[in-house]
Amino acid sequence: MKIIAKKSLGQNFLIDKDIIYKISQITKIHRKNILEIGPGTGNLTEFILKENPKYLTVIEKDENLCQKLFLRFKDKIKIINNDVLKENLEIISSNEKFTVFGNLPYNISTEIVCKWVLNLKKTCWFDELVLMFQKEVADRIIAKENTSQFGRLTVLMNWRLNITKVFDIGPNSFSPKPKIESTVLHFIPKKNFHKFKNSKNIEIVTRTFFNQRRKMIKNPLKQLFNDPKDISNKLNIDLNLRPQNLSILQFYEIINEYEKLRS
Ligand code: SAH
Repeated sequence: MKIIAKKSLGQNFLIDKDIIYKISQITKIHRKNILEIGPGTGNLTEFILKENPKYLTVIEKDENLCQKLFLRFKDKIKIINNDVLKENLEIISSNEKFTVFGNLPYNISTEIVCKWVLNLKKTCWFDELVLMFQKEVADRIIAKENTSQFGRLTVLMNWRLNITKVFDIGPNSFSPKPKIESTVLHFIPKKNFHKFKNSKNIEIVTRTFFNQRRKMIKNPLKQLFNDPKDISNKLNIDLNLRPQNLSILQFYEIINEYEKLRS
């Protein structure tokens, strides 16, 4: 049966076997509890199975594709037909941490990792994430300070995760071909991470700063604190810098100060 890709679900299926194999080799699958999100027609799923995971659960929103996946893999995988954004993965993962693979639509990859990071408990429900992003977004996630890519995503995602870029993938490896380049990122939870009272404050503070990324930081600081000078003296930061010139750690310190103010 021919599969017609649904644009609304961001369906660009990986067809390049070399690339799919390389993704399956990024981390250990053998005897592990694997979760694949947005498996599509199952091209990566097949390569994951070749590595003999202990369990393989997949979450796919498209009901048609779920039926096809069932015909293709039968009881070798557990299929959940749902929107991954609606699943509580902490519950599904039960006792064994998930290693997560996913080539999802690009906007969802970003949304889901932000949501996961903001809601993580002290211990994580996953031990690794291997996810595909639009290259331009991946570049923002792994951006260095003092670059124009450095921003909200950088500060947020690096809070709980160590992130490495694995490789870029060109449009020709997909069908239908997307218009953009893709990048695979590998995430591992940090053992030690900066403590906040409420992770929502990371969002509030980074939004306030990066919504006006060209302005000097005295502006967002004025919005967040009564007296920006106080904070800049205490944290030893120059009020004339732009948000991208601060370090991730300085952002965490600012968030801590913001939390002190609110409590
Ligand atoms: N991973 C496959 C398919 C990529 S296309 C491959 O590389 O070939 C993206 C897949 O994510 C599609 O199968 C699409 O139906 C699915 N998808 C889109 N939005 C989703 C969501 N919110 N939850 C779960 N799956 C979703």
